[in-house]
Amino acid sequence: MGAQEKPNHSTFDVRRPSVAIIGGGAAGYFTAITAAESDPQAKVTIYEMSRRTLTKVKISGGGRCNVTHHCFDPKDLATHYPRGSRELRAAFHRWSPQDTIDWFKARGIERINKDSGSEYSHFS
Ligand SMILES: Cc1cc2nc3c(=O)[nH]c(=O)nc-3n(C[C@H](O)[C@H](O)[C@H](O)COP(=O)(O)OP(=O)(O)OC[C@H]3O[C@@H](n4cnc5c(N)ncnc54)[C@H](O)[C@@H]3O)c2cc1C
Repeated sequence: MGAQEKPNHSTFDVRRPSVAIIGGGAAGYFTAITAAESDPQAKVTIYEMSRRTLTKVKISGGGRCNVTHHCFDPKDLATHYPRGSRELRAAFHRWSPQDTIDWFKARGIERINKDSGSEYSHFS
């Protein structure tokens, strides 16, 4: 690169980090919200390859959107995932179904219904 060819940094601001999230599903949106809440200055962009976002969320739980399991012990919860229980146990200690319930509640979404015998907690 010659002396005259300086890179254009006009859209790059180190005080305003850019976060690119690939995929506009549940994980992508959760990550985007968490990133934006962690750093309100951050420019958070979700890149979705299809024409619609959150398509699976809309059909999850037959339209009722089951958001978590009704099992609050990380060790117990991990037993439901035989092929990754050890790895998931650590993850469930860091983020549990109760954290999910609290996360939604803090945003004004109350758990409204828990079917007896169901492992899921329902919100609407
Ligand atoms: C019928 C049905 C019912 C379900 N019910 C439940 C339920 O009740 N509760 C539950 O927790 N889960 C349910 N699930 C599972 C549900 O799909 C997952 O919980 C959830 O959608 C996973 O979210 P995700 O963001 O990981 O993946 P996805 O929802 O699959 O989102 C990934 C997104 O990334 C996009 N993408 C992929 N590759 C690229 C790329 N290279 N560039 C840009 N975009 C890309 C995809 O188009 C998609 O939009 C159900 C699934 C189905 C099919």
